[in-house]
Amino acid sequence: MNNNDYEHRFSNLLSSFILDMEKIPSDITHPSINEASADMCRFLRISHLEATLIQPPDLKRKEPIINKAVYFSEGEFSNSVPFTVTRETPGGTAIYNVYPAEDAEPWNDWELEKINVFIVTLFIFNGRARSMALCSHLTFYDPDFAVYNITFYIIKLRELFRDNKADSYICCRFNLKKFSLINITFGREQGTKIMEKFALGLMAVSGEDCCLCRLGGDNFLHLFHVDKSEAVKKYLMGTSVESGKPNEPYADISARFSFYHIAGDCITPTEIIDKATNAYNIMRKSGNDPYIIYDKSVAKQIEDQRIVEENFLKAIEKEEFIVYYQPKVELRKYSLIGAEALCRWKHDGKLIPPNMFIPILEQSSNICTLDFYMLDHVCRDIRRWLDNGLEAVRVSVNISRIHLGIQNLPERIINTIKKYNVPHELIEIELTETTSDVDFDELKKIVAELHNAGINTSIDDFGVGYSSLNLIRDLPWNTLKIDKSFLPSENDPYNSQKITMLKHVISMAQSLGLECLVEGVETTAHVAILKENDCYQAQGFCFDKPLPVEDFEKRLKEKSFKKSINAEE
Ligand code: C2E
Ligand code: CA
Ligand code: CA
Repeated sequence: MNNNDYEHRFSNLLSSFILDMEKIPSDITHPSINEASADMCRFLRISHLEATLIQPPDLKRKEPIINKAVYFSEGEFSNSVPFTVTRETPGGTAIYNVYPAEDAEPWNDWELEKINVFIVTLFIFNGRARSMALCSHLTFYDPDFAVYNITFYIIKLRELFRDNKADSYICCRFNLKKFSLINITFGREQGTKIMEKFALGLMAVSGEDCCLCRLGGDNFLHLFHVDKSEAVKKYLMGTSVESGKPNEPYADISARFSFYHIAGDCITPTEIIDKATNAYNIMRKSGNDPYIIYDKSVAKQIEDQRIVEENFLKAIEKEEFIVYYQPKVELRKYSLIGAEALCRWKHDGKLIPPNMFIPILEQSSNICTLDFYMLDHVCRDIRRWLDNGLEAVRVSVNISRIHLGIQNLPERIINTIKKYNVPHELIEIELTETTSDVDFDELKKIVAELHNAGINTSIDDFGVGYSSLNLIRDLPWNTLKIDKSFLPSENDPYNSQKITMLKHVISMAQSLGLECLVEGVETTAHVAILKENDCYQAQGFCFDKPLPVEDFEKRLKEKSFKKSINAEE
């Protein structure tokens, strides 16, 4: 073969090699590379061609990773010294060993030059394959461990729709319970490994077609065939994972989760994820249930939530929220000593009770807007009463604990009161108990500042949450509002245990110098129990339900409940 023919043949082979390589998926060990290389290797008198990629150790790996691929092998393996082409890349070193056939003439310079060109071409393709693999990893996988990310999860959902299979699958949103404790016990690095083991175990019980996606931290989305529901539920409810720590070899991991069985009427991936996530949020806010299954009633709650959130700001603007006043009564003289301001929403001609919207508003800072609206309207009413010569009583306003994070809360409260020039002693702020230490410090500051400004404060719903004696003892509260759950119910008119507890709570409050009011006083029997236990402040249906302002103003004029109580007795 003369030079020209040789060149010509070589360029033809190189072109078809490139065309073949273009068709091969991005995988440097793909067997088709061997076929694509064969003709060229024969032409260049190569009997064996192997490539080694050495990825050096890094922060995650202590050992280098060595990947080997044999691209061509024909005849006896040659013992001769290979021609080696080495390339350094950012991802490591690539070494190509090219062996001549045994007993063959050594390659001349021309041939060596062509071999070089061929190997460099192969190297470029391999580099491209590696970067594409890396790209797909970065695009579709979680950075910490081998589960998918949201991009891939959405692709997977689209595929299910395309194949008309979506309605056989469950979309599940979950969060690992108290995972910070695992991090504290085993260390962060080991914590991540434990999380990975838990995730891999979950995939193992969820079927081959599952798709587990990490949203970040200990939040995940999962997708699996409905047949696997029970297995997944059981796994998420609690599983022991090897911890790698000799004296504490297992970590118990459990999750709180929602299941949404994907409906057949074609909806988008985002809608599916939203449904599972909204259901998850409803469960999280409404108690300690470990899981929630999306059904009609959950759908209704989500819809209610959407309506509240969408209409809230407009409703504030249109003053659709109305202050109702529930009287507080002194039990010796049955006189009116105060009132609690309670919110009602007049929307589309209906009066919506607070339990339908307060818990929803408490999920965002909207509740703060409402509480300040209420305080503002209460001050406005008190100002009017004073201006009209009515003898006003102290009105308590509920301030949600969500406010604890707000800066200058006492200052904002004081400024609102100042705006209407209302005497401070006519306002009381009701706050619920709190559990965390951070809240505690914040609460302490707020109560102290309000106290210094002459504004009364009360602990609302005492006995419902976790009561902390420190919380009561260390802060200058004025009143303890004892929850109605301490009162015996109609079915259980003389519950001695409840009454004993009530007695102790009342005497504890009094010994700490607090005033004591019992809520939910519904019957004269309740009134009698309070009086027997030296508690003389009550609020409840026995006297009045929360009243519209006009009705409350009548109470302000009358001042006494004696008539109504006597009539009942
Ligand atoms: P709360 O602060 O414990 O208010 C007392 C609730 O008990 C009121 O329910 C009242 O109507 C009810 N109640 C009063 N007397 C009796 C009784 O004798 N028997 C029974 N079974 N219930 C009685 P309401 O008005 O439905 O308010 C429910 C909750 O909504 C309130 O509980 C409070 O936590 C919240 N809320 C109401 N208005 C506001 C507000 O403006 N801001 C904030 N943050 N929360 C509010
Ligand atoms: Ca209250
Ligand atoms: Ca209460």
